[in-house]
Amino acid sequence: MIKRKHARLSIVLLLSGIVCLLLGIAFENTFYSFAIVVYIMSVVLVAAAVVVSFKYLKCPGCRRRSSLPQWSGGGKHKCRYCGTEYSYDK
Ligand SMILES: [Zn+2]
Repeated sequence: MIKRKHARLSIVLLLSGIVCLLLGIAFENTFYSFAIVVYIMSVVLVAAAVVVSFKYLKCPGCRRRSSLPQWSGGGKHKCRYCGTEYSYDK
């Protein structure tokens, strides 16, 4: 059983990281120091998304990271390594 909140947390962190990256690109020429800060933030956010994803979104059978985080949608998912079926808690 994979917790939905972990999947959503991972998605939110990743999207925030992408937004920060885009902000950095947008302000690179006008507000250089602000751009540096958001670049650093984007790296931190993406790293956090990866950590959450690798720590919590693991196959219950083989403990490998097999699933992409899903915001919603039920049903069974199948591990691409060992074939174990798993589902989200909600
Ligand atoms: Zn597996």
